[in-house]
Amino acid sequence: MNQTLHSIFGLQEFRQGQEEIIQAILEGRDVLAVMATGSGKSLCYQLPAVATGKRCLVISPLISLMNDQVAKLNLLKIPAAAMHSGIEGSGDWETDERGRILQDWAEKRLNLFYISPERMAMPEFFNFLKKNPPDYVAIDEAHCIAQWGHDFREEYRGLGRLKKELGCPVIALTATATPEAQQEIVTSLQLQSPLIRVHGFYRPNLKFQARQESSKKKRFQEIVKMLEVDQGATIVYCGTRKYVDELHRVLKECGFPAYPYHAGLSSEEREESHRHFSEDARVILVATNAFGMGVDRPDVRMVIHAQMTGSVESYYQEAGRAGRDGQEALCFLFFGADDAAIQEFFIRESMRSIPGDKQQVWLRHREKKLQLMQRYAYGPTCRQTALMDYFGDREQLTTGCQVCDNCQSSETMPLTTELRQDILMVLSAVARFKTSFGKGVLVDCLQGKETEKGCLYGHEHLSTYGLLKHKSRVELMTLIDLLIRQGYIQQNGFKYPTLSLSPEGIEVMKAKKEAQLPKQLYLDSMNRNKNKALTAEEKQRGRSQKLAAKERLEPELWESIRQWRATMAHRKKVPPYTLFWDRTIDDLCLRKPATLEELSQVFGMGDRKCASFGDELLSLIQKKD
Ligand SMILES: [Zn+2]
Repeated sequence: MNQTLHSIFGLQEFRQGQEEIIQAILEGRDVLAVMATGSGKSLCYQLPAVATGKRCLVISPLISLMNDQVAKLNLLKIPAAAMHSGIEGSGDWETDERGRILQDWAEKRLNLFYISPERMAMPEFFNFLKKNPPDYVAIDEAHCIAQWGHDFREEYRGLGRLKKELGCPVIALTATATPEAQQEIVTSLQLQSPLIRVHGFYRPNLKFQARQESSKKKRFQEIVKMLEVDQGATIVYCGTRKYVDELHRVLKECGFPAYPYHAGLSSEEREESHRHFSEDARVILVATNAFGMGVDRPDVRMVIHAQMTGSVESYYQEAGRAGRDGQEALCFLFFGADDAAIQEFFIRESMRSIPGDKQQVWLRHREKKLQLMQRYAYGPTCRQTALMDYFGDREQLTTGCQVCDNCQSSETMPLTTELRQDILMVLSAVARFKTSFGKGVLVDCLQGKETEKGCLYGHEHLSTYGLLKHKSRVELMTLIDLLIRQGYIQQNGFKYPTLSLSPEGIEVMKAKKEAQLPKQLYLDSMNRNKNKALTAEEKQRGRSQKLAAKERLEPELWESIRQWRATMAHRKKVPPYTLFWDRTIDDLCLRKPATLEELSQVFGMGDRKCASFGDELLSLIQKKD
């Protein structure tokens, strides 16, 4: 085996895990190999065929991947061929290429034979295979069989019969499968007590970083800053086409050699971008996840995610395209609540293509994946360790990778009496809520701000109400974000996540455990947010000027709505702002709704309010108009 490795493949030594897998194939065992991209997956099924003259049938989903592999093997003078729609002929042995390939296989002149899962489903072809069976089958991209996975392919389901009908060992290979998906692959392919190995997820040359940032403008600025250092090839992944277009425009304006890539562009435009990406030394590709399979440039120095992905699998697959040459590379992830909301929207959109009876299971599965992605993004542990755990790679990194943002900021913040008090108050406030609320309401309550929601739920009676009045809004937001990051507070839901205490959070609140906040991150975000606080104030000033202008536009209507609100509030014995705010009056004057539906779109007007006094309000507006 070692000799084949040297003399034919020209390699010096096996990579981690390869030898054990090859040995199992030689012994005729079924195998499931989950090996991260670039860790030498294909060699595992190619080498046994070459070394022993066995015949391996390879099932692969993409024509370009098949052609690529066959070309590489033929270059090494290994007899290999692929059969797909691009190969011409009717299958006649005498006259055409298709026939010649079939004959070569039947007469045992091929070591490796690549076909698509669709071809396996053709009865005629399957009969041919039964008459001319392989010594073993290798199924590449085996995660496509996982029904709830992100790359599910219907044709892969049919591969379950291979084991029984061809009666030979089956080797399943993939670069991405969680322990749960691994089990599904084993069951679906009917593997018999297979050797399961997960390897190569630790990539010591990659530096993983993640930053919570809600403002798009700030994200763009940060990206520009990162790109200013000459970095060779970079991929910037975005969640939507619109985001790609916007960021691409910004980068172009800054003079970067940036090119867009997404499914909404013409094939010429995409090819042009792809060509630049493959050929130019300094290039930035701004892309959706449409840019992926078949990208094998080894010297990508940075993969930036301008928006969070919907699962750790997608994230790792995309980020893992950095640094395949083994040289240092950066994987940077931006995340925030909006990203999760966008992903949730995608999930709900694509749910439509799932059969009705399976929709709920599918939805829960996808939401769980999204939640795990969020946990990764917010999480405090070493990034590489978190990723390895996710895929079930058992290689141990006892002291972390030492280079990711979390390893670098493992020093914790010394707790002053004040900071300890602040943390306790935030946690207690979450615990006191009878209904769960989001961050905004929590901050309002701590600051003792009178708000509609707060009044409705009687927050002013809570013992935590107004306890942190002296803190600014951004300071509190930052503290809450860090408590979420450390896992003391849990977020539930995506679009409007609500908060609850985790078991660790409860222990901290009861003073059974000391809270730990990462020092560097705490200082950095407090500093960053101090600047933000200034701009927020400035914005507020700008806004009130805008409102004043609007008031002048419809002064009469504005005044009559305000008076109506006063009368109504008096009648209901509540303060006027509990009905709606001045901002709602602004919006009413601007939109002048004519129907209840239009009214419900106005700022601060929910369905309940529409039902209780919507008609009265509408007739008032129409009378004045
Ligand atoms: Zn680390």
